[in-house]
Amino acid sequence: MSRAYNFCAGPAALPEPVLQQAREEMLDWCGTGMSVMEMSHRSDEFVQIAETAEQDFRDLAGISDDYAVLFMQGGASSQFATIPLNLLPEGGSADYVNTGIWSKKAIAEAQRYGQVNVVASAEDSGFTDIPEPSAWRTSPDAAYLHYTPNETIGGLEFDFVPDSGTVPLVADMSSTILSRPVDFSRFGLVYAGAQKNIGPSGLVVVAIRKDLLGKARGLTPTMMNYQVIAENGSMYNTPATYSWYLAGLVFKWLKAQGGVEAMAEVNRRKADKLYGFIDANDFYANPIAPRFRSWMNVPFTLADDALNAEFLKGADARGLLNLKGHRSVGGMRASIYNAMPEAGVDALIDYMSEFAKERG
Ligand code: PMP
Repeated sequence: MSRAYNFCAGPAALPEPVLQQAREEMLDWCGTGMSVMEMSHRSDEFVQIAETAEQDFRDLAGISDDYAVLFMQGGASSQFATIPLNLLPEGGSADYVNTGIWSKKAIAEAQRYGQVNVVASAEDSGFTDIPEPSAWRTSPDAAYLHYTPNETIGGLEFDFVPDSGTVPLVADMSSTILSRPVDFSRFGLVYAGAQKNIGPSGLVVVAIRKDLLGKARGLTPTMMNYQVIAENGSMYNTPATYSWYLAGLVFKWLKAQGGVEAMAEVNRRKADKLYGFIDANDFYANPIAPRFRSWMNVPFTLADDALNAEFLKGADARGLLNLKGHRSVGGMRASIYNAMPEAGVDALIDYMSEFAKERG
């Protein structure tokens, strides 16, 4: 069996040692005679798996006891509604920054629940640049300020954490979580769909400052009420046990790699290499302002779109998979999350170089 280099934006490649361990433990987890998938979520064994995963996540991210960490379901998209239902009071307003497709989805959903002020937008730059924070029209009365630190489709990533003053800062970290160090104490709430840097899709990890719990509107579905989920250790209902377990294996793997600082070094190197190659080669282009180029998602175009299909076919033949860009932007996109080894980026660059020589 040979594993391909999978550049999918999500569900994305998982670390191979994690998959191997899951395989080894599939039929019999630690002598229990059963798979984690078959265990009661109330069993001592699963509670241990769950608690260890949470602690490892806290250790990796540097999240203190001032925050509740929740393992919820419904992916990051369900949080687009869960956040306003919990944090935006009737008659209140929330500030949102629009840096691309995922911001827009969060904005559209929040608008169903109250007044949303789009305080800054990257639209004028074609979503290639982030407006200076000094020009953001934020309100000191906003219930929270929401932004998307990394736009997975556009490949636009913040290299700073906005200063929201006393307004709680809320971030969709789906495609950047655990890829570089972040000061989580700056945030009121962060959330991340798991299928990029954490584990299988469907699971969403939320960290919420405890003083923001208990503010949900009356009509909020119980399953979306952060306080209920926190009080029940994310087991108000049957949680996504196997995904939680796999996330735990990923956290252990990350710790063994040296944690987020060590990952950030590799991630920076991978991204620098790929952008460096794209910039040095006339056949390829990436439109994002260099400062805000994503370390995780690298969109690029070929000099001639008519060659896209051939490029993808050749890539597939070499085991370089899922390089097709999102349908809304076209071109290519290489997602190079934590689990993508540097050798995968090297193999991609070799192929891109050969393709440009032959067809450029
Ligand atoms: N936000 C961002 C930044 C994403 O990249 C994605 C998924 N690609 C989502 C939200 C939606 O996640 P989910 O599919 O888990 O709902």
